[in-house]
Amino acid sequence: MEGKFSYMAKKVLIVGGVAGGASAAARLRRLDEKAKIIIFERGDYISFANCGLPYYIGRTIKNRDDLLLQTPESFKKRFNVDVRVKSEVVKINRRKKTVDVIELSTGNKYTEKYDRLILSPGAEPVRPAIDGIDSSRIFTLRNVADMDRIDEFIKTNNAKKAVVAGAGYIGLEMAENLHDRGLSVQVVEMLDQVMPGLDKEMAAYLHTHLNERGVDLQLGNGVRSINQTKSSLQVSLKSGKELECDFAILSVGVRSEVKLAKEAGLEIGSCGGIKVNEYLQTSDPDIFAIGDAVEVRDLVLANATLIPLAGPANKQGRMAADNICGRKRTYPGTQGTAILKVFDLTAAMTGANEKSLSKTDIEYEKLYLHQANHAGYYPGAKMMHIKLLFGKPEGRILGAQIVGSDGVDKRIDVLAVAIRAGMTVFDLQELELAYAPPYGSGKDPVNIAGFAAANILDGTVKIKHFTELKKGDFILDVRTPAEFDRGRIPNSRNIYVNELRSRLDELPTDGTIHVYCTVGFRSYIAYRILEQNGFDARNMTGGYITYRTVANDSQLR
Ligand SMILES: Cc1cc2nc3c(=O)[nH]c(=O)nc-3n(C[C@H](O)[C@H](O)[C@H](O)COP(=O)(O)OP(=O)(O)OC[C@H]3O[C@@H](n4cnc5c(N)ncnc54)[C@H](O)[C@@H]3O)c2cc1C
Repeated sequence: MEGKFSYMAKKVLIVGGVAGGASAAARLRRLDEKAKIIIFERGDYISFANCGLPYYIGRTIKNRDDLLLQTPESFKKRFNVDVRVKSEVVKINRRKKTVDVIELSTGNKYTEKYDRLILSPGAEPVRPAIDGIDSSRIFTLRNVADMDRIDEFIKTNNAKKAVVAGAGYIGLEMAENLHDRGLSVQVVEMLDQVMPGLDKEMAAYLHTHLNERGVDLQLGNGVRSINQTKSSLQVSLKSGKELECDFAILSVGVRSEVKLAKEAGLEIGSCGGIKVNEYLQTSDPDIFAIGDAVEVRDLVLANATLIPLAGPANKQGRMAADNICGRKRTYPGTQGTAILKVFDLTAAMTGANEKSLSKTDIEYEKLYLHQANHAGYYPGAKMMHIKLLFGKPEGRILGAQIVGSDGVDKRIDVLAVAIRAGMTVFDLQELELAYAPPYGSGKDPVNIAGFAAANILDGTVKIKHFTELKKGDFILDVRTPAEFDRGRIPNSRNIYVNELRSRLDELPTDGTIHVYCTVGFRSYIAYRILEQNGFDARNMTGGYITYRTVANDSQLR
């Protein structure tokens, strides 16, 4: 929403000079040549590529300087912003509208006045109170200095084995990059899955892939204690298992940096982030806060939440600058669109996942699809696994998760836009997306998701999920006998879909027939045959691929 605040040229101080802070400063300058703008950054660098840090450790990014997007000098030249690195803001005096700053290299302390203050201090890695956590062989990764420490340790100690504690995106990126660097890697995760933003059955594809790539996963198994010996680290897990390694990366989550705001009496929200209004103002209207440090409104669930991602931080920085310069813009919320490379796979998500939806009273349905990224007849087609969550009965798109390789990024972004635009699954059917054989299909996976969901909502097909199957349920496999012989759901019957019309008399008429094929499409055709012949049928969404993934991941064994 646009409007106008009253505005006059100002002195704006910014705490934190990376994603949110640097964006805010650049936008401020573009809008106001006269404002006095100072960035205070505690670390040595501003505007560095946090998201690229793991890839330097793995040497995909070979030149360390490529991570340093701006220097204080380049920022001064381009934007006429006074950037003070190694400068920590230690206090805000709201009454006097000043901040106290310590120059970390000299210990000098001084005070600076502001008209407006922007807080973009980010989030710090969580360090749980575990015995041995302060060992010098335990590292966290937040900034360039952390990256250099890890890199130096690997080089000096000729490190061969690492444990990564925590399997969120930083943990998994580190696992891959340490593996690329030639180390053997074990990942320890307290939850029973990696990537908590995904639902477990979608994370299962990553579990298989990580195992195939030689990364040992210890899931459902937190770190109990750590013991540093002369030349190694012993990591004891809650299960009693002991892991030995040269060093460990701790990536068990981040916590908003709110100390400064809290001590200044600014309101802190229920999730522990700085509370801001829709204009990104804190409880003091002259102080704005942005990025990982703030609580945002979840775009789908409408509750307060913390979503520490670079995209929202950058955009909030721009918006805070707009508002300071008199443009009245409101922040609509964050939907948590995220993407991650895990070796040859890409995992992506947007909106709500089922774990969070199941805790609300929102009526939802889900479906699973396994679709090629482009026309199957064009060489190199790769399968992507899609989970779509949508509201019942209206079909509002609530969330999506995709795991695959090529083309995952494009589909998740289309679905992210659909969520932002408040679209329904019925709208997905109509989206006109770019198509030529090397890139897509006449019916893009996003359209197919729309068709499949619309079929469910308008009653064209009744579905069931594998987790809902009960002992004794009649299960019909409509793949070819050869496919059936290669692997099937226990106790299922096989009638190939092309023979179904002539073999209907082999089916029970007094119960429900649960139909499946490989991905759910042939079984949908079978479902339509059965339904129109008076049978009570259910299409098992996601087919044998979804079943096998979930079963292999132990839930259905
Ligand atoms: C290894 C890694 C990989 C990531 N990968 C991705 C990714 O692929 N995609 C994605 O969306 N997000 C990713 N992120 C998250 C993303 O980097 C953050 O969401 C984003 O940087 C947040 O921006 P921010 O401005 O809130 O905080 P930051 O960018 O962290 O900047 C905050 C800065 O404030 C400084 N500071 C704090 N307090 C003070 C103080 N009192 N005085 C002076 N300075 C202070 C800190 O030193 C810090 O440099 C990654 C993060 C890391 C660490």
